[in-house]
Amino acid sequence: MAEIVPPGISSSDFDRAMRECADIVGQEWVLTSQEDRDGYLDPMAPGDAASHAVAAAIAPASVEEIQGVLAVARNYGFPLWPISAGKNHGYGGPAPCMQGTVVLDLKRMNRIVEVNEELGYAIVEPGVTFFQLFDYLEANNIKLWLSPPAPGWGSVMGNALERGFGYTPYGDHSSMQCGMEVVLPDGEILRTGMGGVEGNRTWALFKHGYGPSWDQVFIQSNYGIVTKIGIWLMPEPEATASVRITVPNEEDLPQLVEIIRPLRIGHTINSSVVIANAVRRLAATSTRNEWYTGEGAMPEDLLRDIMQRNKWNFWEVSFAIFDSDEVITARLKEIERAFSVIEGATFDVTRWRRGEAMEKSARRVPNLMAYQVLNWRGGRGAHLGFAPVVAPTGDDATRIYNLMKRRIRDFGFDYFGGFTFFQRHAIHTSLILFDQSDQQMADNAHRLFDTVVREAAEMGYSEYRSHVSFMDLVADGYNYNGHALRRMNERMKDMIDPQGIIAPGKQGIWPAHLRGRRA
Ligand code: ADP
Repeated sequence: MAEIVPPGISSSDFDRAMRECADIVGQEWVLTSQEDRDGYLDPMAPGDAASHAVAAAIAPASVEEIQGVLAVARNYGFPLWPISAGKNHGYGGPAPCMQGTVVLDLKRMNRIVEVNEELGYAIVEPGVTFFQLFDYLEANNIKLWLSPPAPGWGSVMGNALERGFGYTPYGDHSSMQCGMEVVLPDGEILRTGMGGVEGNRTWALFKHGYGPSWDQVFIQSNYGIVTKIGIWLMPEPEATASVRITVPNEEDLPQLVEIIRPLRIGHTINSSVVIANAVRRLAATSTRNEWYTGEGAMPEDLLRDIMQRNKWNFWEVSFAIFDSDEVITARLKEIERAFSVIEGATFDVTRWRRGEAMEKSARRVPNLMAYQVLNWRGGRGAHLGFAPVVAPTGDDATRIYNLMKRRIRDFGFDYFGGFTFFQRHAIHTSLILFDQSDQQMADNAHRLFDTVVREAAEMGYSEYRSHVSFMDLVADGYNYNGHALRRMNERMKDMIDPQGIIAPGKQGIWPAHLRGRRA
């Protein structure tokens, strides 16, 4: 008998439903043992991972099998949480929002449907990972580059659907997505945009089609199961420059932001810009106990001392430029002129031309180097990201930085952070690094997150993505006109998915019969 079942379904009915699913996908792809189900727990849970435990996982191999599983789910009334690679670490990993949901694991559907080198796009199924697509491009000598996130082991689709980002001009992944195939909760298959025209060749080229444009509606939502996406890929650039700029003082932050904004809006810098503090740099190459073993946050004096010993300035700015060699030279001239108004700014530029041996990270090879920082607190390293969207102004950056630095230190963590700048917005990126095996530390991380979400919301800031444990909390901050946005989202939910089959609770959107579960 099943140990955890979805709400409102008996254990014997659930067992029967799983047997019917086994007839569709094959017995070995209906995962119900304790060991199998544990594989779908959040590996970085900031609290009790069991509160998001799954009732089972089902791994279909085709759109037809998805339709079959959906029919069983509708018949018995159990919810499905679709995942692509399930690596959504820091946001819940493969785990669903609501305990007892059945994960619909799509990693077996991993065909690269098409890569068009001339037009610069790929069409992929859910299970296609960045590693897989990279290998495919290499093996076929296709001169298109990926924009992998850090770390780069997840799926191209899952990352775009969660609005993940990378570090090339194509770094805002949900904006680079074009054309989708979706299975709706009632089993209907739909293609968005130009995909609506049988035989059309611009499905992955023109996003909008005719009439309402639906792709963004299926991003970070629970209205359908996405089975194919088009994603734009950058033609291999003629040249690349990796730029590292540092400035000496903490107080330089607002000026730094004011310098970066016009360079990003005007595209002089044509990829994401990262600002990092010392802890972020330290955690990339060392562990905390090499520097500090005392109570509470690392003392600021000690950090200053470490920076001095390493001859580090306070802030490090890093980004890359992709263009022809000549244009890069012109861009760099303007960039250097802009930053050099900050006294003590340093510049360090590495350049490559097409065909030269490049550093892997500059060449945008997917990798897992970002996970080094998980060792910072020792034990079972985990992270929780707090990433509110801010206007790229010195004033906004200072306000959110001051709040976050103070609160993170209040709760005994080290401020690991900075900002990532896109063309017109910035994201304050602070990782709360903790040791999961230390219950008190994990609880603290949870409480810290809860506190900063509320305080940031009072200041008018909110996240663009969230961990499954905090989806309601973050949705609560979107409060204009008494949460009119949430009401609209839930009206859509009731219409498209009246039984609430797909991902209840995702992004704070609950089906009618489960709305009482809103945290
Ligand atoms: P990653 O690529 O990082 O492994 P996941 O597969 O964990 O990403 O997906 C992240 C989240 O995106 C999931 O938890 C789910 O909410 C949503 N998602 C992923 N794949 C799909 C899909 N095919 N259809 C609908 N939602 C999806």
